[in-house]
Formats: sequence, structure tokens, C-alpha cells
Amino acid sequence: MYTFEFVRPADSATAVATAAQAKTAQQGADVRFVAGGTTLLDLMKLNVETPARVIDINRLPLDQIEATPDGGLKIGATVRNSDLAHHPKVERDYAVLSQAILAGASAQLRNMATTAGNLLQRTRCVYFRDTAMPCNKREPGTGCPAITGANRMLAILGTSEHCIATNPSDMCVAMAALEATIHVQGTNGMRAIPIGDFHLLPGSTPNRETVLEPGDLVTHVTLPPPVAGSRQLYLKLRDRTSYEFALASSAIVITVARERVTRARVGLGGVGTKP
Ligand SMILES: Cc1cc2nc3c(=O)[nH]c(=O)nc-3n(C[C@H](O)[C@H](O)[C@H](O)COP(=O)(O)OP(=O)(O)OC[C@H]3O[C@@H](n4cnc5c(N)ncnc54)[C@H](O)[C@@H]3O)c2cc1C
Ligand code: SF4
Repeated sequence: MYTFEFVRPADSATAVATAAQAKTAQQGADVRFVAGGTTLLDLMKLNVETPARVIDINRLPLDQIEATPDGGLKIGATVRNSDLAHHPKVERDYAVLSQAILAGASAQLRNMATTAGNLLQRTRCVYFRDTAMPCNKREPGTGCPAITGANRMLAILGTSEHCIATNPSDMCVAMAALEATIHVQGTNGMRAIPIGDFHLLPGSTPNRETVLEPGDLVTHVTLPPPVAGSRQLYLKLRDRTSYEFALASSAIVITVARERVTRARVGLGGVGTKP
């Protein structure tokens, strides 16, 4: 067991300032926020993640789901996946999001997992999670054994010669179909990032997974007002239904008027390097 510093800031500004002390060369990997811990702690036990400082954000006031003035929804970063999936407004107006979350992980995990943690969960590529193996995402420049190895769960869209890892999130696929916006607090203030621009393709730097900079704290996610008359569905194919990551999934939001599809958004999961 290696040692790390555990800190519990009183407010978001202190959390950001504490996290910004990360060494930028490692894209902030030496400092990590912890929310539900369902991914980070696993990876720390495997020595895949070895942060010197872990910042607990669970006591920050980021756990509310609120209506926005324009009729949309604001989802706090530490809202638990279960609370989001079962929120009456989500079940009614953003059903695809509720279905996607409930199709992921297990009830116990969803009770701990948070909105921001789900957005930032890392790939389930088996080589990434095994420090005895090379992996360009974990150790840039060491190679990608998955390309010729066990890759049934990995991506076919958005891949590069350096990495073919799938983004494993179900929630993000629904959020992509719903055109969510991610709100981030950094050392230079707040900024809003459309979900389509939040995750990065692997290219030659698969270690860089999002546009976040060291110190950036995801504070909340907003959804636009629901599209009147839209129909929504999340469909997920997986090896077992108790809990398992997607082999392929799809989040569909369509509007039908007079027997014609007038608007359609389709998100794909399990097959892409980003949602
Ligand atoms: C057995 C198992 C099965 C699973 N099955 C599925 C599945 O089928 N589908 C699916 O989608 N997911 C699945 N998951 C993944 C699960 O959804 C994620 O572990 C969970 O959503 C992560 O949320 P968390 O709050 O626990 O994140 P944490 O582990 O606390 O954090 C994850 C990452 O996010 C960062 N982070 C957290 N909050 C913030 C913030 N506010 N700002 C900036 N960075 C932040 C952390 O630093 C860390 O890097 C499974 C997990 C397990 C263990
Ligand atoms: S697919 Fe990506 S995560 Fe998996 S071994 Fe290759 S570089 Fe590493």
C-alpha cells in the first residue's frame, strides 16, 4: 500500500485550488477528486491510479437536481446515479437517461456512483487495468496490446493506432443524445462544455481523455428543455443482465409528427472511444 494525502475541502474554490497544484505534465494524475469512489478506489487498489493527493468532494453542495429557468434540468456533480434515474422529472421528461443509468452497474454501485464520476469513469480495457502489461493510455509510448489481443469489448469507432479503448459509460450515451452540457469550475472560473466536446478521441495521446485541465472540478450538468412529443429509448446488449458493460448500446430521442420523424438524435455506446 502506498501512502497518499486525503483532504476534504470546505468549498469548491478550495477544492479547485488544492487540485490545481497537480503536476501538469501528468495531466493532473497525481491529484484526484473522489466522489463515489467506485472507479477510483478500484484503480488505486490495482496501482493503475496512484494519486499523491485525493480530494473528497462528497461534502460540497453539489448534490441537487433542480429545474432551470428555461425549463431544462440542472444535475449536481455528486447526485447519485440512483437518485438521478428515479427522479420524477427524469423518468417523465428524460426517460432515456433514466433507462441508461438503470441498465448500468448494480443497484449498490448506482447508490454510490455520481454524475461527474460516471462522466469521468475510465475504460474497462483489461490491459489498461493490468500493470504487468504495456498500455499507451496508462504509460504513453509503451504500446497497445489490445489491438492484436482480447478486444471484443473494445471500440470500432474513433480508434487510432495507439488505442482502441471504449468509453464504458451508459449514462454518457443518453446525455449525448439529450445534448447535455458539462459545467466546470477551474482556476480561471466557470466554463460550459457541450458533451460532444468533453471527451477526446485517443489519437496519439490516449492518456488524455477529456478537455479537463488539472484542478478542473465538474460542478453540474445541464439538460436542455425536453423536446415536446419526443419518444426516447435506451437499448443495451451485454453478456448478462444482472450487471455488465455494453457490447453495444444505443440512446434514441426522436420526434414524430404526422407519422414523420421530424428530429432524431442517436447516441452509440460500447462501440466508440467516446460516447
Ligand atoms: C462492477 C462494476 C460494474 C459497472 N458497470 C457499469 C455499467 O454497466 N455501465 C456504466 O456506465 N458504468 C458501470 N460501472 C461504472 C460506474 O458507473 C462508475 O464506477 C461510476 O459511475 C463512477 O462514479 P463515482 O462517483 O464512483 O466515481 P469516482 O470513482 O469517485 O471517480 C471517478 C473519476 O472521476 C473523477 N471525478 C469524480 N467527480 C469529479 C468531479 N466533480 N470533477 C472532476 N473529476 C471528478 C475522479 O477523480 C475519478 O478520476 C461499473 C462499475 C463497477 C465497479
Ligand atoms: S486499447 Fe487503449 S487502454 Fe487498452 S491497451 Fe490499448 S492503449 Fe491501453
